Amino acid sequence: MIYLDHAATTPVPREVADAMYEVLTEQFGNPSSQYQLGLEMKRRVEGWRRTVAAALGCEGKQLFFTSCGTEGDNWAIQAGCWQNRHLGTHIVTTAVEHNAVLEACKWMEKQGYEVTYVAPDGNGDITAEQVLAAVRPDTALVSVMLVNNELGNVYPIADIARGLAAENPKTLLHTDAVQGFLKVPFAAKSLGADFITVSAHKIGGPKGAGALYIGPRVRNPRPLLAGGGQEGGLRSGTEATAQIAGFARAVELRSEGLAEKLSHMAEIKAYAVEKLSAIPDLKVIGAGAAPHILSVSLVGWPSQNIVNDLSAQGICISAGSACHQGRPSHVVAALKLPKRTAGGVVRLSFGPETTTADIDACAEALKRHHDSRMPML
Ligand code: PLP
Repeated sequence: MIYLDHAATTPVPREVADAMYEVLTEQFGNPSSQYQLGLEMKRRVEGWRRTVAAALGCEGKQLFFTSCGTEGDNWAIQAGCWQNRHLGTHIVTTAVEHNAVLEACKWMEKQGYEVTYVAPDGNGDITAEQVLAAVRPDTALVSVMLVNNELGNVYPIADIARGLAAENPKTLLHTDAVQGFLKVPFAAKSLGADFITVSAHKIGGPKGAGALYIGPRVRNPRPLLAGGGQEGGLRSGTEATAQIAGFARAVELRSEGLAEKLSHMAEIKAYAVEKLSAIPDLKVIGAGAAPHILSVSLVGWPSQNIVNDLSAQGICISAGSACHQGRPSHVVAALKLPKRTAGGVVRLSFGPETTTADIDACAEALKRHHDSRMPML
């Protein structure tokens, strides 16, 4: 199998699975229990918290484990709006966020909030000026992703944070950094966002684990789940110790030689651009700077057919985000591409293990698809 869908999820290294297995079987204590097995697990959870926090450039006490990126996004949006409920009921986000943000915003609309969706240009870019121009005195929250999951565009979060601090200092800023964490190096402090969402399964960790950074400007954050008081009373529920152990081990492994891994992915992406551009009717979409995501269109050939054909040959790529399950992607729609271009968009995404041979095989399969099928769009 050739796996070119690392933005959807990543393989879990043996070391991560081993760390989880140990916690599932031998070190199975509940961190809230008062005997040695539980106390030891509590100590280890705090160690894993520090590991993930260090990779995010924040303190352990600012990091709260969640069950996934989707949970972090939902929590941040609700907590940000809650803190600023006296300031107003306006949210600024973008038209190209992940559905975890868009649907959470739609839910806020049902609660009476007004949401402004900033549109990207034809390359998927969004400027800080565009976002800041949409902010009003009654804007409770701005939510802009760090890296777009379909296009790889990197958005100017630090500039948005600086602009808000100057003009709208009470407005809180959330960034969904699920595709940026350990891909586009940043530190929570210098990024300046009040909430940062990350997820384990995009960096070699298990599915079902994530974290939310909550910065110092968020006073008395609204708890996501009420109950036994875990996660500083903000996110009750017995800690998913094995998932958290796997998350922390994945962070450690990914962080080893990170600069080399990122430049390898960037080289793979450049190689893929060159190789794929030689295919007739193939167009590179967007100008994404993230090293691991590349969207292209085989103009005229329906993306789902391409994905199915390559899948039959053991090559995994996606037709836009895996989360759309066959529905047209709102991200591609926001680019306002001609219909035949939009209909042919597929995403390739890379990991540290991806080789040029993987790209060669994918390019050959795409070329064969082009040559053997009639365009249908
Ligand atoms: N945000 C972005 C940008 C994503 O790419 C994803 C997953 O694809 C998510 C949020 C959701 O993360 P999770 O699958 O951990 O819920």
